[in-house]
Amino acid sequence: MAQYSTEAILLAVRNWGEADKMVTFFSRDLGKVTAVAYGCRRPKSPLAGGMQAFSHLELGVMAGTHLDTIRQCETITSFKNLRENLDAMAYATFLTELVVEVCPERHPEPHIYDLIVCALEMLSKRNPRLVALAAAYQLVEYTGYQPVYAECVVCGHSIETDAFFSFEKGGAICKNCKLPDSELIDMPVKMQGFIQKLLELDWQDPAAFSINGAVLLQTEKLLLGYLVFLIEKPLKSLEFIKQLAMLKN
Ligand SMILES: [Zn+2]
Repeated sequence: MAQYSTEAILLAVRNWGEADKMVTFFSRDLGKVTAVAYGCRRPKSPLAGGMQAFSHLELGVMAGTHLDTIRQCETITSFKNLRENLDAMAYATFLTELVVEVCPERHPEPHIYDLIVCALEMLSKRNPRLVALAAAYQLVEYTGYQPVYAECVVCGHSIETDAFFSFEKGGAICKNCKLPDSELIDMPVKMQGFIQKLLELDWQDPAAFSINGAVLLQTEKLLLGYLVFLIEKPLKSLEFIKQLAMLKN
């Protein structure tokens, strides 16, 4: 059986067997892979420190017929701070769950990989809610289901006034093309500008921006609605984020 090494982020980790963990990792050159880390819950295991959610690692893996086995790991960034801060952890979980849901098994997605690494780094430095929102808007652009925000998907005219958004049509709908019985959500002009800023956010040198609460909520509503429409089920991490918000209020 072949052994390979790869740089990866751990997207999901769960206990398995007596001392093992089942790991879903996201490799820059292989995409999403499910593997077992045998014995990693034993304190003396060389894998003990590394097999945790969000860890950025260089992995040594043995390919298997059904499942690959993680044999070695070297930490690039532990992202321990993301596991120690509830807010940052909730949004990091949202992003990793999103990758699990939208990326097929063993299909390389280097753009999404680089984006997630940048976003995980940024989560504990900036407002995690905005970081996660920008990362999620940018991630959807790489899925093949990227929505059209700037033009009406029916008539093709550029959107310059308050408009609407249709999940089914995957984009903006102008006032003239709005049908009375279609399910649409509002997309006011302010929101269109904000989405553009999120899409253009430069992770190496992120511009500071402030946004009013109502526009932020509506921008989240559009993205989350579209994600649920795409993956056809609710994201578990959103429940956690909601509970955190309720604790603060
Ligand atoms: Zn139109």
